[in-house]
Amino acid sequence: MNQSATERRTGVLIIGAGFAGLGLGVKLRRQGREDFLILERGHTVGGAWRDNTYPGAECDVPSHLYSFSFSLNPNWTKMHAPQGEILQYMEDVAKQEGVLPHARFNTNVEEIRWDEQRKLWQAETSQGTYEAEALIMAVGYLSDAKLPHFEGMDSFQGAVFHSAEWEHDVDLEGKRVAVIGSGASAIQIIPEVAKTASKLVSLQRSAAYVTPRHDPYYTGAQKRMFARKPELMEQARADLFWANEERYAQRRGTETLIETVTQAALSHLRAQVEDEELRRRLTPDYTIGCKRILKSNDYFPTFLRDNVVLADGGATRVTPTGIVDAGGTEHEVDVIIAATGFEATDIPMASKTFGRNGISLHDRWDRGMEAYKTTAVSGFPNLWFIKGPNTGLGHNSAIYIAEAQIDYVLEALEQVRSGQVLEVRAAEQETYMQELEKLSEGTVWLSGGCASWYVDPRSGRLTTLWPDFSFTFREVNTPFDDTVYDITQNSHTSPAEELTNA
Ligand code: NAP
Repeated sequence: MNQSATERRTGVLIIGAGFAGLGLGVKLRRQGREDFLILERGHTVGGAWRDNTYPGAECDVPSHLYSFSFSLNPNWTKMHAPQGEILQYMEDVAKQEGVLPHARFNTNVEEIRWDEQRKLWQAETSQGTYEAEALIMAVGYLSDAKLPHFEGMDSFQGAVFHSAEWEHDVDLEGKRVAVIGSGASAIQIIPEVAKTASKLVSLQRSAAYVTPRHDPYYTGAQKRMFARKPELMEQARADLFWANEERYAQRRGTETLIETVTQAALSHLRAQVEDEELRRRLTPDYTIGCKRILKSNDYFPTFLRDNVVLADGGATRVTPTGIVDAGGTEHEVDVIIAATGFEATDIPMASKTFGRNGISLHDRWDRGMEAYKTTAVSGFPNLWFIKGPNTGLGHNSAIYIAEAQIDYVLEALEQVRSGQVLEVRAAEQETYMQELEKLSEGTVWLSGGCASWYVDPRSGRLTTLWPDFSFTFREVNTPFDDTVYDITQNSHTSPAEELTNA
């Protein structure tokens, strides 16, 4: 699209149209603001829910909770909606709220820099340059696929793809398929692929704790009731939220709770797998909760099928016709699917973002991602994150967190609109991070004896998760308080003035 310079200069640039970027877009519009653009590398909104189209993709957080509090949906078909339904919900919200005209799709941000002279963020994208006084990073940390490189991978004669980049034109029916990984994605993929593949080899490096999935369908009458009485949806949402909060206590390392949750997961395994040896191999060797606790009723039974092989220890190398497991056995396969997770602790956007003095976020974060109140980073004026450092939850809805951050950011953006340049002081950020580190001590994520994407491998710090109850997130991180920021007044040339002067 050929755009004029005025269309490329705006008040707020939002990067990413997932739940975070979309949510902010909706709230800005509801405030009557039109001076924002959303740069999105994909062809539509949706973020992870647009990209993860693998068979069996569903949310493991109930949909009446995993949705915007300001756009409740009475029509969820079941407790945990499938990917397509969630994506449709997001597209509907974007359309109904008038956000789509603000979105620039298929626009990949290649580099983004703070222009100290003009007090602007300047983004170089695949579709040209964009500029704004404020920059909102809503790129998430589960957006860039992590495909490990195994020796011999280039010589493999079949198809290889990542779970978040599913190749739908590769027909798996009757094929021999290897799936690497046993995380939240793998446990949804494996049962589906095993139904039609001639053979499925599951390369499991670490076993997962899996609990029963309660997933009833809503009846027509229930949906009509939700539509007529939105307060019922609000009540359902609150009930789901507080039930999840109760589960959080376990993550803090409370012995009796750990025991209760462990027994729930192990008895699910016992009920589904009779064979003692197979059960032993499917039993994790770390404390429950250290990695995400998964929900599935059909994952364990899949290993009872004749066409499914469990290979312990993960993959070591690839041959032209197969994959070799940790025990040295080669499994002949036609397709390799890597359900190996995401570049979560070192997000690629950090290497492309340059703040004051040309320092990149990647270099600023040499001990791992961090931000004051999870949103602001010193050295990066007028930049705020939504769903950035320390915003993941192992036990509740990520959208609750995003909404709290959106409220914070909206207040900050009001000050930017009045011509201010705000940069959080390094000392404030450091004090906040020390408090978070103290809060993280003793949690199962650091002491549970596992390696996960919650912890930065460079420093051993918990950088992606919020280390407390979800409700405290809002208490600790809002409201916006400008006293921790160094504030300068921009000489403030409006976009229109600047263009006239040029
Ligand atoms: P993940 O949790 O990071 O799991 C990656 C899996 O790949 C792990 O089992 C890991 O083994 C294995 N792996 C990675 N590199 C490997 C290698 N070189 N060799 C062998 N195995 C390797 O990724 P994910 O399953 O895609 O899930 C990521 C996150 O996305 C989840 O934690 C969740 O937050 C979100 N998610 C949510 C849903 C949902 O229902 N809401 C569904 C899918 C994903 P190790 O465990 O040994 O490292």
